[in-house]
Amino acid sequence: MFQNLGISQSQRSRFNPIEAVSYPRDRSDADRVKDRDADEGENQVLKHDRYDARIGDNMREFCGLLAKEVRALLEEVGEKEFRAKQLFDWVYQKGVTRYDEMLNLPQSLRVFLKEKVQLGLLTLEKVEDSEDGETRKFLWRLPDNRFVESVLILSGERKTVCVSSQVGCPARCAFCASGKEGMIRNLTPAEIVEQVVLINQTLNERVSHLVFMGMGEPLENYSSVVRALKILIDPHLMGFSPRKITVSTVGVVPNIKRLMEEDLKVNLALSLHAPNQHIRKKVVPYARKFPFEDVLKSAQEYAKFTKRDLTYEYVLLDGINDREENAEELASLLKGQQCSVNLIPYNPVMGLNLKRPSKEKIETFQEILSKRGIRTTRRYTKGKDIAAACGQLALKKNL
Ligand code: SF4
Repeated sequence: MFQNLGISQSQRSRFNPIEAVSYPRDRSDADRVKDRDADEGENQVLKHDRYDARIGDNMREFCGLLAKEVRALLEEVGEKEFRAKQLFDWVYQKGVTRYDEMLNLPQSLRVFLKEKVQLGLLTLEKVEDSEDGETRKFLWRLPDNRFVESVLILSGERKTVCVSSQVGCPARCAFCASGKEGMIRNLTPAEIVEQVVLINQTLNERVSHLVFMGMGEPLENYSSVVRALKILIDPHLMGFSPRKITVSTVGVVPNIKRLMEEDLKVNLALSLHAPNQHIRKKVVPYARKFPFEDVLKSAQEYAKFTKRDLTYEYVLLDGINDREENAEELASLLKGQQCSVNLIPYNPVMGLNLKRPSKEKIETFQEILSKRGIRTTRRYTKGKDIAAACGQLALKKNL
């Protein structure tokens, strides 16, 4: 292989596949905390592989590599810098995920990449369109035969993709199909980025906005999500404006702070779902891990530091968090903040004994917030007929 690429013996010995970037799919919290410091130095990723070599015999994953890492890899094998640009163009602009189709690359390089850098990790298993044509759900098969999904939401000119960050989810929100499944594994950065690449490819155009609101708690898969964000916003790669990306979290306090320090300036949405910790613990069992005040404070600090408005997500559940006094309490809690509350009437999930509030109750809740000066939006549940709430399709497949 290296002979084909015309590189010297010394270059061969420098290229050590053991140093490949590989992302574990199921690391514990403790492991990830240990990784934190090392994670800051993205330059070091190729040189100091701090991860177990568990994926695909140490193969790298193309959509998980930063631009500088792709350039370094090509340099290692004696290729000119412009080859990196050609590769970025094929993958991130044209949405091509088969090296064989990259006809302006030398065949020897295509063969090398095929052997050493995985591309096209996700296989499209199923697409479902909602009756109103405004929502499309993509079910992806992963290399280990697990499933995740992404949802495309069309609204005028806006094309938003809701991406998944984990298979299953540790947060176990009471209303959610992904939570029901529990945590299965983390997605790698490439498995996150490829969801967007492949949806662009399917649409034959670029989506405009991204939200990390699919399966998983993004800040519980911190290293992979941050790396994916860097790739998504790099103008040489996917080129999204950070303003058009929102990361949603149930409130992993230390990682909200870390994300703030990364200074990526993506938007943050806090999945609050309750006006106090007592109710929140019932709706978001994960909430037990952090005091309510700390969750709110860290999200507000993030918004202040990044100068981005903060969005609070609030799924309205009949008889649980939708009472008038809940709206009053929420209004008092958020008074004076630069924020908005996104009210989401619950979308029924198979096997969960929860109900959507009546239209009147939803309207009253919204009116109370509005009268108290809190900006609100109401997310009409799009794609109810295709089970568009996160995790419902994948849940059926993963079980
Ligand atoms: S709503 Fe989001 S955070 Fe909660 S369990 Fe589902 S995927 Fe996880």
